[in-house]
Amino acid sequence: MDRTQAKHRIDQLKALLWENSRLYYVENAPVMSDYEYDQRMHELEALEAGWPEFATEDSPTRRVGSDLEEGKADAGFAKYPHKYPMLSLGNTYSIREVEEFAERAAKSIGTPFTYCCELKFDGTAICLTYKDGVLFRALTRGDGVQGDDVTANARRIANIPHKLHGTGWPREFEIRGEILMPYASFDRLNHEREVQEEPLFANPRNAASGSLKLQDPEEVGRRGLFCTLYHIPTGQVDYPTHDDALNAAAGWGLPVSEERRICRNIGEIEDYIGHWDTARKDLPFATDGIVIKINEMAVQQQLGYTAKSPRWAVAYKFKAEQACTPILSIDYQVGRTGAVTPVANLEPVLLSGTMVKRATLVNEDQIRMLDIHEGDWVYVEKGGEIIPKITAVEPSKRAPGAKEPVFPATCPDCGTPLVKPEGEARWFCPNNTGCPTQIKGRILHFLSRKAMNILAGEATVDQLYNLDLVHSPADLYTLTENQLLQLEGWKERSAARFLQSLRESRKVPFERVLFAVGIRYVGETTARDIARHFGSIDALRNASREEILEVPEVGDVIADSVYNYFRNEANLLEIARLQNAGLQFALAAPAEKASDKLAGKSIVISGNFSISRDEMKALIEAHGGKNSGSVSGKTDFLLAGSKPGPEKIKKANDLGISIIDEEQFFAIIGPGDEDAPSVAEKKADAPSGASPSPGPNESSDGPEETEPTLF
Ligand code: NAD
Repeated sequence: MDRTQAKHRIDQLKALLWENSRLYYVENAPVMSDYEYDQRMHELEALEAGWPEFATEDSPTRRVGSDLEEGKADAGFAKYPHKYPMLSLGNTYSIREVEEFAERAAKSIGTPFTYCCELKFDGTAICLTYKDGVLFRALTRGDGVQGDDVTANARRIANIPHKLHGTGWPREFEIRGEILMPYASFDRLNHEREVQEEPLFANPRNAASGSLKLQDPEEVGRRGLFCTLYHIPTGQVDYPTHDDALNAAAGWGLPVSEERRICRNIGEIEDYIGHWDTARKDLPFATDGIVIKINEMAVQQQLGYTAKSPRWAVAYKFKAEQACTPILSIDYQVGRTGAVTPVANLEPVLLSGTMVKRATLVNEDQIRMLDIHEGDWVYVEKGGEIIPKITAVEPSKRAPGAKEPVFPATCPDCGTPLVKPEGEARWFCPNNTGCPTQIKGRILHFLSRKAMNILAGEATVDQLYNLDLVHSPADLYTLTENQLLQLEGWKERSAARFLQSLRESRKVPFERVLFAVGIRYVGETTARDIARHFGSIDALRNASREEILEVPEVGDVIADSVYNYFRNEANLLEIARLQNAGLQFALAAPAEKASDKLAGKSIVISGNFSISRDEMKALIEAHGGKNSGSVSGKTDFLLAGSKPGPEKIKKANDLGISIIDEEQFFAIIGPGDEDAPSVAEKKADAPSGASPSPGPNESSDGPEETEPTLF
């Protein structure tokens, strides 16, 4: 390769790696496998070593991938500098290179030393600061120099202690580790998203990192995350070894990784790797390798760091398990929202203990990107991932003349020409009201356990539809016993049970009814947030797009979908029929009265608080106030949390209406009433988020130390 070619390839690799780094860390939606990413990184390292004049400071070989959402000014987290940079780890997939690491270390260190081997947890990095024994701040790795303040979310992670116990902890110190989502929680979350036809998380790592960045701490609490800690930066505690420091931290009640082992030589390291290569498959969470660290703190300091990683540690990464199998056929499945998903039927193959027969091909672009042809042999991977995915084609096994699959131009069910809305990667059948699969899919969704929980399955829905008895959920409430007795195999008892179940469904709370009606992109959680925010279907129906955007976690796509749903005559008619059938279209009555401190006051709330918005509304009502949806001349004050709606703030300012924050609100309702403790407690738990926080370059931690440490 000549100089010009080298420069060209270096530039190409830099662009490729930065873009994939963004997809991985910020979007949590990688499209490249980790192995391929690491191979490209190693190729870039080798080229930069050969042509050092092209090794610039902005190279991905010199900087850690950033999880900060550049350009998304409303990302919503305060940023704080790390006291010590949070770096990455050098990595390898080869035992030989681990041996070379040990040989190099032995050569350059004159004194005896040991290794601390640990699992490489496949989650998202976190840095916790404790001050006077109390959790003070939690930061993501960010760009390694500064991270996002996710303290409110970290407080909802069950095994992160708010207070330390024992003695001997420094007055202030940082401890670092990983936030993980166990497979069981990941499975549950993705199942919910699948039902909603929301994009699935590719693996538990992406799910953990996406969850840690939610703007809704309560939801974070529900996601089943946990933390494991593995490093206290040097200089903060005075222990001879890394292992001693972690033992001390465990004594203070911190969740320190337990699977570590002290190894004296490469043989013991290889045993450890060999053991966990198999044993890790039984762990309830994902690991992607082993980290080998030199244990003695003095040696760590002696070896120091490169720009990106410590010289005293290396990660040995496991390759994701793969199998190669032929594609038998491709199905095109229509979902209840009309989205058409290609699914490959595979020659069954055993992978990580399960027989894989089908794998999603996601969308047409993915088929083209992988260059899939009919009958191709494909690699199927199941690393940290639960859902098998096709990662590549084996070109040597392609049959001569194999054709590219033709994505259908019309709906495989009703024959309507498919459309691809702008900004969507998927094709849709637009025949929402006439496509049988969509109609039956919507009814099935409505009946499902997490929605209305009505006792009926696919076979019943098929029959009801085929007999022309039911075309939409509202039709279910018009069914009579005589009609039900027309269904094959139905007797009085089954009809009575079904009718009883329909009656029961009238008690299902508003948030689940909203989920059940099946607005595109509105999953269980979003439906709950929207229901709590607006309180009733009438308020939601009349809300502007901007008002819908004020709901936590609701972005443009969901807001558009909800807004447009209520602009469609057929949907409005369906809602009206369901209302007439007696379903719950408003939240249940508020709590009992606590005081008259807000009597006669009309209060508008906007943004997020340390307690949920419906708790806040209940509190206003419990103290005699009236919660109102929009700012007007009659409003007494606007209670603004974090990320308040700019429209409301502007209107309040224009009308001269006072704007108060959560702190001031609690001061008004005051202490001493019996109903308040639960809220007050929650408030004590909450971050200082309601008060102004220092900007990115302001540190409240005193003078910055420059000595870099691990991660
Ligand atoms: P990394 O994940 O390879 O290793 C460093 C990280 O390991 C640390 O930041 C820490 O969070 C974690 N870790 C887990 N257990 C640990 C332990 N016991 N001790 C110390 N650290 C531990 O490095 P990275 O910089 O976070 O990410 C780079 C890697 O991410 C790449 O090597 C690649 O595999 C993957 N990646 C993939 C893509 C893609 O498109 N697929 C894009 C970017 C990055």
